Amino acid sequence: MKITKVSKTFGNHQVLKNISLDFPAGKTTVLVGPSGSGKSTILRSLDLLERPESGNFDLDELHIDFSQKIKDADILTVRKKTGMVFQSYNLFPHFTVLQNVTEGPVQVLGKKKADAEAEAKQLLAKVGLADKADFYPETLSGGQAQRVAIARSLAMHPEYILLDEPTSALDPELEMEVLKVLLELAKEKQSLVIVTHNLAFARRVADKIVFVENGEILYDGDAGKFFAQDNDNQRIRDFLNSMS
Ligand code: ATP
Ligand code: MG
Repeated sequence: MKITKVSKTFGNHQVLKNISLDFPAGKTTVLVGPSGSGKSTILRSLDLLERPESGNFDLDELHIDFSQKIKDADILTVRKKTGMVFQSYNLFPHFTVLQNVTEGPVQVLGKKKADAEAEAKQLLAKVGLADKADFYPETLSGGQAQRVAIARSLAMHPEYILLDEPTSALDPELEMEVLKVLLELAKEKQSLVIVTHNLAFARRVADKIVFVENGEILYDGDAGKFFAQDNDNQRIRDFLNSMS
């Protein structure tokens, strides 16, 4: 998946300035950078929740020109191939955990209920919540709710899972539960794009780091080099120091 020469303006504020980025399949790309730099806007553009006014988007054989009206069929294709996990989980409150995970596969993918339930149970076990299938979201901790949200996303078999600060609403010990699940998915070569302020986690999980500042890409490359003490970009060194 990639975006090319993408610009996005809110009012008279250009928040993405002609940026190009590649999100390699089977890899974990982590977006970092100061608050307000444009990370969420980039992530939301990948799911077409945000519409840049210019630039291109490519995912497999699908090509979208943001300066043209996007066809409904293309929007559906993108939404099938990407799964967004939000900071605030967005579970359906009146559904059990199991129903939250089976709803999409049954309603959108047309899966048989029994098949969807069997897979949902496997996915809940994978995220450590086999015993919570019949609970309602309000009875879960934040970390548990976020793991349900991840299982729900996995149930749709997206090519890419997009996560916007998936743990920033969580206490540190609950955060670890979620980070472990993401590390496991990364190990299994699930394609991930993650926005996070947790640099220790970014360092562990990322194949590739993208540093965004003021709507521009100041770094796009190898995670190890980004975090190296001798990174020759002063702005990145300042950022890393401010976060540690
Ligand atoms: P944070 O780390 O705080 O989540 P971010 O890097 O995700 O920040 P964005 O949410 O992408 O930043 O926002 C980038 C800029 O665009 C900010 O200046 C923000 O105020 C602005 N912005 C985002 N969404 C809108 C909107 N719907 N209308 C107007 N301005 C917006
Ligand atoms: Mg954001």
